[in-house]
Amino acid sequence: MRVINQHYINGRFVDSCGTEILDIVNPTNRTTIGRVTLGDERDARDAIDAAKKALKTWSKTSLDERKRYLQKLHDAIQSREAKHIEIRTEEYGGVSRHSKFSISGAAKVFLNMKKTLDEIAFHKAVGQADVTLKPVGVAGLITPWNSAIFMVCNKVAPALAAGCTVVIKPSELSALQIQLLVECFDAAGLPPGVINLVHGRGEVVGNELTLNPDIDKISFTGSTTVGKSIMRNAAETIKRVTLELGGKSAHIILDDADIDKAVAFTLTTGFMNNGQACIAGSRILVPEHKLEAVKDALLKAVPTWKVGDPTKDDTLLGPLVTEKQYNRVQAYIHKGIEEGAEILIGGKGQPKGLEAGNFVQPTIFVNVRNDMTIAREEIFGPVLSVITYKTEEDAIRIANDSIYGLQAWISCGDPERGRKIADRIEAGVVMVNQVFDMFDEAGAPAGGFKQSGIGREFGTYGLSSYLEPQAIFPKRA
Ligand code: NAD
Repeated sequence: MRVINQHYINGRFVDSCGTEILDIVNPTNRTTIGRVTLGDERDARDAIDAAKKALKTWSKTSLDERKRYLQKLHDAIQSREAKHIEIRTEEYGGVSRHSKFSISGAAKVFLNMKKTLDEIAFHKAVGQADVTLKPVGVAGLITPWNSAIFMVCNKVAPALAAGCTVVIKPSELSALQIQLLVECFDAAGLPPGVINLVHGRGEVVGNELTLNPDIDKISFTGSTTVGKSIMRNAAETIKRVTLELGGKSAHIILDDADIDKAVAFTLTTGFMNNGQACIAGSRILVPEHKLEAVKDALLKAVPTWKVGDPTKDDTLLGPLVTEKQYNRVQAYIHKGIEEGAEILIGGKGQPKGLEAGNFVQPTIFVNVRNDMTIAREEIFGPVLSVITYKTEEDAIRIANDSIYGLQAWISCGDPERGRKIADRIEAGVVMVNQVFDMFDEAGAPAGGFKQSGIGREFGTYGLSSYLEPQAIFPKRA
């Protein structure tokens, strides 16, 4: 039984003022493997004070100094990669393929940000002014559980690179993974107070960050519902906000696509991270006259997605993070049936032999209309909806008929045709025929249109969101 009862404040592990204890449960077998003591407002305020004090000197560090620390942070995470993957599997149920991708991505963002620092002009003359990009101040970073380590790193890297100090409020469902990450932060040897982290609930610690006047910026990744409440709180002191929120991404299969390849792509993008991915292609748009062929291909392909113990190398789908999440996904499967969609494969309950954990049968609905609940709301599990369309225009209309606009996927024979359609899709990122690695595309932005968010992460787009331009007139002679 592992016990976490400390936060990381001002360069030290300190006992929690908050006393609520939360069990840490292995989602594969629902056994309790640890306990975390959740912090309260006092812990949050201590962390904010430390970050505010550290800002004075950190904001004045040279870019070279920041680059050295970014390298150290990368090295600290990379050198513990195997341990990170092991804990992610145990606490979250992440399968090895996705865990490797997610953890190596978490380390890489520090190296990418090191490069990005050379791509942005921190000082330049504009007209009669000298314009300088200054750190926005103390950043509150609030993150979800579905790629816990990566989400934190993808915010810490640009914040520190910009000269901001941070207070992190990770998901309360990822305490073991985060504990190892904090040990990496500690090993990197940054000045005290530059990185602070408080375990705790969103309504308590998260709420304090979003209201506290000493927090200058909030970067949040999570659900759209919570994103809205964060924006309301942040408005009180005009905090800058970056919001990376939910999605209900369309995957348009065009009529010239190779069906087997398109179906393989459908499952890769729909079932990634056990179906718990904000960018999952969960609405599969299929030309009406190709429906039967797509159904046949899905019936062949879905059973190849082995569900089970995430510690096994050949497992492709692990359990959902919690029993609550399992029940939520089951409720959506019920709702789909109730609203008249038809189950092609999968369905209610756990797969046979996996009753001890939060396992969901990979499920494909057909006969789905875009106005059904399962096509409108984010399910966050391996449950996909097939929706037919008549014409290309129709496909674009359906894809854009969503409150979300995070990501879209296109399968096609002619990539140029795919790109033209991509141009008309209301989504922050569109990928044609392939999952591109955003960590290798160091500078390309990610983020949402519409209710999928505000602002962008990665590269200069991400870094700029932690910077504030100041113009001084007249410019130096
Ligand atoms: P969530 O919104 O419930 O929680 C996210 C974080 O916010 C957690 O740390 C939580 O404790 C905190 N929080 C909750 N209430 C709060 C409040 N009132 N004030 C401040 N903080 C609060 O989301 P989740 O269930 O952890 O994660 C799943 C969601 O995250 C999905 O909707 C998914 O689409 C989204 N997500 C988006 C992206 C993206 O890049 N757009 C990436 C991953 C996940």
